[in-house]
Amino acid sequence: MLNTLRDITQAVAAARDLEAALELLVGQIKAAMSTQCCSIYILDKNELVLSATDGLEPSAVGRVRMPLTEGLVGLVAEREEAINLADARAHPRFKLFPEVAEEEYRAFLAAPIIYQKQLLGVIVVQQPSARQFSEGEEAFLMTLAAQLAMAIRGLKQKASVKEDQLQILFQGTPASNGIAIAHALVLGGQISLEQPDQTAADIPNELERLKTAIERCRNTLSTLAQRFDREQDEEVVSIFSALQLLLEEASLGGEYRDEVLAGWCAESAVSRVSLRYITQFMAMEDPYLKERASDIRDLGQKVLRQLIEPERLELNADKPVILVTREADTTLLAEFPRQKLAGIVTELGGVNSHAAILARALGVPAITGVDQVLAADIDKKLLVLNATRGQLMVSPSPAVVGEYRSLLSAERALQRQYARELNLPAETVDGKRIHLYMNAGLLSGLASEIAEGADGIGLYRTEIPFMLQQRFPSESEQVKVYRQVLEAASGRPVVMRTLDVGGDKPLPYFPIKEENPFLGWRGIRLSLDHPELFLVQIRAMLQASGSGEQLHILLPMVSNLDEIDQSLEYIEQAYSELKSDVNPELKRPKVGIMLEVPALLFQLDEVAKRVDFVSVGSNDLTQYLLAVDRNNPRVSALFDSYHPGILRSLKQARETCRQYGLGASVCGELAGEPGGALLLVAMGYNRLSMNQGSLARINYLLRRVRSSELEQLLAEALTLRSGSEVRQLVHDYLGQRELAAILN
Ligand code: PEP
Ligand code: MG
Repeated sequence: MLNTLRDITQAVAAARDLEAALELLVGQIKAAMSTQCCSIYILDKNELVLSATDGLEPSAVGRVRMPLTEGLVGLVAEREEAINLADARAHPRFKLFPEVAEEEYRAFLAAPIIYQKQLLGVIVVQQPSARQFSEGEEAFLMTLAAQLAMAIRGLKQKASVKEDQLQILFQGTPASNGIAIAHALVLGGQISLEQPDQTAADIPNELERLKTAIERCRNTLSTLAQRFDREQDEEVVSIFSALQLLLEEASLGGEYRDEVLAGWCAESAVSRVSLRYITQFMAMEDPYLKERASDIRDLGQKVLRQLIEPERLELNADKPVILVTREADTTLLAEFPRQKLAGIVTELGGVNSHAAILARALGVPAITGVDQVLAADIDKKLLVLNATRGQLMVSPSPAVVGEYRSLLSAERALQRQYARELNLPAETVDGKRIHLYMNAGLLSGLASEIAEGADGIGLYRTEIPFMLQQRFPSESEQVKVYRQVLEAASGRPVVMRTLDVGGDKPLPYFPIKEENPFLGWRGIRLSLDHPELFLVQIRAMLQASGSGEQLHILLPMVSNLDEIDQSLEYIEQAYSELKSDVNPELKRPKVGIMLEVPALLFQLDEVAKRVDFVSVGSNDLTQYLLAVDRNNPRVSALFDSYHPGILRSLKQARETCRQYGLGASVCGELAGEPGGALLLVAMGYNRLSMNQGSLARINYLLRRVRSSELEQLLAEALTLRSGSEVRQLVHDYLGQRELAAILN
């Protein structure tokens, strides 16, 4: 049974289009269930259309349409449950459609096809004899319907691309607001180093492909080296130069070629050479040589990408593009020149995945969880991305493009209007001063970003520079980076978070494979298991800060008091060593923890005895309080920081912190959203840290509201039932004050 299910689902997923898939499906189900008739009805504009049949009158396909209120098929759709009848004719909802010629059938079993609460259609099997289908048959059809739902939805979307070039085609989840109009650059996602062994049909041709791929790789590497050279990042430049050397004939370049000459196609050759050397290097004792395995892996993937997706990774595209990919890894986004990146569309990933956060940090409109977008043929087509509404349009008509161009310019005008006040303090009409800080992670552009508006850096995610490296950065390399960050903040406070890898932030050179990464080896857990790495990082932060008072150290993902105590011991150890050996003027930094793990909400009295402040990570706190993986598009609709339960927790945290004299700020995404900022201010948070792109908007908003009104707003919000009701309340509040445009 399992095999049959799997075969049918796979065949459908691989079908060329919806029609072919349905055709195939009815035949296969009929055979698998040894029945006389199988038909599929697909929902189209509130009607169920007979879309494929094996057993009814073929000419009725596409012609028979029924509203949900009619017939037994309509009843299945209406009730969203399976119906199993020994004699369909005896049922009061039975309706005869003469065109389909179903007079001979009596037994009737039907199951709805539902994808994420949305009805897509109904599968029906019928038999002439009046007998009830068995429980097993019913379960089989329901399982099949559930498994097919995703493939059918994908094919339906694909079909609508072809049918109507003017319509909205894809729906995703808004991850970074804004509108973009540009051509698509489709990247097929992760390239596996493990390519199948395939012999070459034409060796000279394979050699030519390999040569071109190597050449393109060389160009990309040299462009990247130049770019980082301009940003004076010598270490990164040296990595790219080393990779370029590895591409030479005398090195891996020659090895790849020899493997093609031995008869393998280019992809297999690169894969074979890379895997062979990786195994050899990994077996070496010397840690330096061991680390070289990751260079070989990286280079292999770069060459393979050029072979598999030629012309894809030209980071020098002459015009901005909308990147369409399975999963945007943070490295890719960070490497992509900002001015060339108009928008991001991903199949996977949730609103609070780190790629989404990075998109917001870069100010690039983005949507995630766009099902089957890679299956549709949209590469190089003109796209309109309305990320605020989660919509992606492919090849829209000139009128639609024109409409969006004017929306875009209106949006830019609004941004300029907000930016004009950025230098004025964020103070409510009744005089409550809120301190706005910036979240950062990338070095490039930091100096100009921090120049205006922010009261400091409220969250510096140190893992981002770690992710852009080929190995753990050394102490002196880290000192250099942290010094730049502190300098960019010119005297203003900087909250530097210790390494928060794990979860959805892997380091390319330190892979962690876990069943439940968000419940696994993340943040401080990993640092405390590797004190040698943790100490290097703390020492680097302290040295960068020296006798200044800017540095605040923040510990991520703390879940118990022992973790705080141990971390404090390491911080103290690094501090006293450096003070006695290097800098007698060294200042002891303030230390805080991220409030992300719910249990700590109930131990704030103990936390207050140990650290100076907490920074509420509303992204993770929401994820853990609601038990919703922030990265999983299937459940992303459930990830809601406006859930009244979350709001009550945040309010309680603020009150408890005040009771124990513990400083509290918020650095999760909620702080940078208009509704979130208003509610947090009402709770008493007066330090909010957000992406650079949100600063001007939130500042503008806070300067136009009264804190007394916000308290009322919060009181009402806390009595509501759901996050959507809270959003509506905020929307109405802003609407009454003619501020609703700020939500766009
Ligand atoms: C958070 O969890 O809210 C947070 C700011 O940390 P990150 O998003 O980097 O996990
Ligand atoms: Mg977090």
